[in-house]
Amino acid sequence: MEEDTKAGPPHVLIFPFPVQGHVNSMLKLAELLAHAGLHITFLNTDHNHDRLVRYSPDNLARFSGFPGFQFKIIPDGLPADHPRAGERVMEMFNSLNSVTKPLFKEMLFTDHELQSIPGSNRRAVSCIIADGILSFAIDVGNELGIPVIHFRTIGACSFWAYFCIPDLVEAGELPIRGNEDMDRILKRVPGMETFIRCRDLPSFCRTKNILADPNLQLFVDQTRQTPGARALILNTFEELEGPVLSQIRTQCPQIYTIGPLHALVKYRSVGSKTTSLQSQSLNSLFEVDRNCMTWLDAQPLKSVIYVSFGSIKKMTNEEMREFWYGLVNSKKRFLWVIRLDMVDGKDGGDDDQIPSELAEGTRERGYIADWVPQEEVLAHQAIGGFFTHSGWNSTLESIVAGVPMLCWPCSADQQPNSRFVSEVWKLGMDMKDVCNRTVVEKMVNDLIVNRRDEFMKSTVEMARLARESASKGGSSYCNLDRLIKDISLMGVRSKEYLPSSIN
Ligand code: UDP
Repeated sequence: MEEDTKAGPPHVLIFPFPVQGHVNSMLKLAELLAHAGLHITFLNTDHNHDRLVRYSPDNLARFSGFPGFQFKIIPDGLPADHPRAGERVMEMFNSLNSVTKPLFKEMLFTDHELQSIPGSNRRAVSCIIADGILSFAIDVGNELGIPVIHFRTIGACSFWAYFCIPDLVEAGELPIRGNEDMDRILKRVPGMETFIRCRDLPSFCRTKNILADPNLQLFVDQTRQTPGARALILNTFEELEGPVLSQIRTQCPQIYTIGPLHALVKYRSVGSKTTSLQSQSLNSLFEVDRNCMTWLDAQPLKSVIYVSFGSIKKMTNEEMREFWYGLVNSKKRFLWVIRLDMVDGKDGGDDDQIPSELAEGTRERGYIADWVPQEEVLAHQAIGGFFTHSGWNSTLESIVAGVPMLCWPCSADQQPNSRFVSEVWKLGMDMKDVCNRTVVEKMVNDLIVNRRDEFMKSTVEMARLARESASKGGSSYCNLDRLIKDISLMGVRSKEYLPSSIN
C-alpha cells in the first residue's frame, strides 16, 4: 500500500460517544478545527445523525460552509426502538464494542485506500480525536498507525476522581461502608484531600462490589487508558481547574484545555468572514421549543429559576412530584425542561393526574418545555438561577452565563461536579442525595433571593475568567492554536505503520 504523502490540510476524524452532551461538545471542536482549515470527518451514529437532521437542520447546514468537512455515519449496534437513555445508556458500550468497532476499523482502512488513489483531493485520516470513553479507538489507531488523541467531555475534577479509584481501593478507602459512611473525607485523591467525600465520588462507586461492578470497572478502565493516547483534550480552562490539571499532568503530560468550547466557538468568530460561527451553535438531538424565549422575555430581571436535568436522566413519578411541589411552593417563576422520555412509569394511571394546586401554580408562574435552547436560555436576563443535574456541559454553560447553580447530581461525573460547584468554586449549592419538596422550596429561595449576592460575586468573577480564557490571548484560545499546530505536525503517516491487511 502506498504512503499517503498528499499535500494539503491534515485530516482529522472525530468520534464522540453517541449521546447529546458528547456530540454537542465534539461538534463544537469539529467546527473550530474546520474553521482553522483542517479537513474533518465527523463520525455520527445513524440514530443521532437522523436526529440532528430532523431537529437541527439549520445548524447542520452551517457545516457545509467548510469545504473540508464531512459527516460519516456508523451504526451504534442497537435496535431502532432502544431508549438510549437512563441506565440503559450503558448497553451502548457493549454494542459499540461488538458492532461499531470492527466497522470503524474497516472504514478507516477503506478511507486510506480511497485517498491513496491518484486524483483524490483529501488526505487519508491523519489523526483521530476519539471520545475518551471509546478507548477502542486507541487499539484501532495503533493498528493502523494513526495517532489518537482522547477527548474527555467531563471536567478535570471528575476525570481525576475516576483515575484515582484504583488507588482508593488499594488504600482501603473504598468500598463505601453504607449510608452512614457517605460523609467520610477521602485522603487518596491528590489535590482533593480536604473536601471530597464518599458521596462526591462518581456514582458508580456506590457499590459494595467495588472490584467487580461492571459499570465502575468500565469507566475506570477507560480513564486509565488515556495515558496511552497521544494527548488529552479537556473542555475546561486552566483558571477553573488549574490545581487538578497539575495532578492529571503527572499521568498525562500532554493536555490541551480548550474550554469552555461554546465560548471559544463564539469568540473565534471575531474577524471571520463566515457567519456560521456568529450564531449560537445548537447541535440538538431533540425538538427545540422556542416559545419559551417569548415567555422569558415577559419575566422580570433575574426572577426565573431554569430547571433541567440534561438529556439522559430519567425520573420517577415520585421524584417529579417532589420537585414540582417544591418549585410551586417556592413561589418563584420557573422554566422546567421535562423531556418526553424523562419520566419513568408514566402509564396514564391515577398518578398522572395533576393536582390542581400544581396546575395553577404552573399556569401562574411556570413554563414547562420538552427541550429548550439552553445556552440562549442561560444567557437571558430573566434567569436568576439554574437547577441542574450538574452535567459538565450544563455546568460550563452556567459558568459562562454567570448564573448560580442549585445542583441535584444524578449519576457518573455529576457527583464530583456538584461538589466543586458548591465547595471549591462557590458558584451555588449542592442538593445531592435529597429529593424533598421542602428542601427544594428552601434552596430555590436561598439561591435566587436570600444568598443571591453571595453567589453573584463568585459567578460574575468566574464568568469573566471563562470568557477571558476563550478570548484572543487567553489560555484556551492559545491552547487551541497549539492543538491545531500539533495536529498539523502529525501530518503524514509513516510507511512502516501502515497495515498490510485488515482482519
Ligand atoms: N440541553 C439543551 N436543551 C435542553 C436541555 C439540555 O440544549 O433543554 C443541552 C445543554 O445545553 C447541554 C447538553 O444538552 O449542552 C446536556 O449536556 P450535559 O453534559 O449537561 O448533560 P447530559 O445530558 O450529558 O447528562
